[in-house]
Amino acid sequence: MSSPVPHDPEPPIPAALVSPVNVTAGAVEHSVDVVRPRLRARPSRRVALYAGVQINGAPHLGTDVMQTAAFLLARSARDRLGVRPALRFGALDNAPHDTRVCPRTGTTYTRSYHHALGPARIEELVKRFYGGLFDALTALTGVPYTVETYTRQQRTPAFREEFLASLGQWERLRWTLAPSSGQVPVSVPCPECGWLQKSGEHTELLDADGRRARFAALCLDHGRYETDVRPDGQGWLGLSTLHRNLVKERLADRDEALPVVVKGADWAAGCRLLDEAFLCFPDSRPPARVFTPVVLSASGAKLSKSLMREGGAALSPDTPPWMLDATRWPGTPEGYAALLHRLVSLMLSEPRHFERGYTTSEIARLIAGPG
Ligand SMILES: [Zn+2]
Repeated sequence: MSSPVPHDPEPPIPAALVSPVNVTAGAVEHSVDVVRPRLRARPSRRVALYAGVQINGAPHLGTDVMQTAAFLLARSARDRLGVRPALRFGALDNAPHDTRVCPRTGTTYTRSYHHALGPARIEELVKRFYGGLFDALTALTGVPYTVETYTRQQRTPAFREEFLASLGQWERLRWTLAPSSGQVPVSVPCPECGWLQKSGEHTELLDADGRRARFAALCLDHGRYETDVRPDGQGWLGLSTLHRNLVKERLADRDEALPVVVKGADWAAGCRLLDEAFLCFPDSRPPARVFTPVVLSASGAKLSKSLMREGGAALSPDTPPWMLDATRWPGTPEGYAALLHRLVSLMLSEPRHFERGYTTSEIARLIAGPG
């Protein structure tokens, strides 16, 4: 609260920015203000902002805009709400690294980044993709950050307890997490080789209570195996995207610091399902969430690694290569951080500029400035 507020290294981007009137006009002056009702309901001197870090390839501009917004929102929480902010990034080392298909059954097996590379190389990847940017953003905003891998997080007793609690509500919960089928795969990797069935076709919950769940599953090479999931952190637990986020959000609510989840606006529809899932637990409420602008290709589709890989990104010719792959930024990490800081400060200057998406062309125009 009393730490000095670092100033922008450069003036804001001067290009004229025009955004439509938004739904929250007249209600929200700054996008971080959505946290205020939570703080009034549950007074806290500290706020923890949670954001994700993808490690399955170099980040694109959309990812880095979300992360920069997390730093700036944290600083605004400090300045506007008078709380001490911390920024906690979760590195998704559960992303699939390798895939195999059983020639007999057609079942897809995957091996995670964690199982393929191990913790030391995961740490290297996080440093390579994000270390320079995050350190420079800390220098610009005064907001400290930490990075924790999914593997470390899922091992904690609290994560396991929340997972076991979700099994306790399973009959209702599985239909909110998968409204079309009610099928929510839980994956436990083979203890011999670390591979797992991607959709858990042959994974079976044998029995569960509040202290333990026992699963049986099938490995392509090692056949049937059984694994216990307990709060003591044995084994490794793979959850589907929404289930994993539900467990993480309920876990975050246990912290003394008030949790604020920062996600790209493409998450809004998924978070509606998470809100429904929270209703399955008595006296449970979802954390405050702030959605950040998505970066779009010319077609209006969000920039994404899979879209670019499949060649469907439909990028306009004025999109510089570093917008798709941040490791191709031609300057220093500090210069990249300063540019993002200016760009996202402009987006945060009014909620109407924050509650919308930006094409890569529009961002190129904003960066170039008038004339
Ligand atoms: Zn195996």
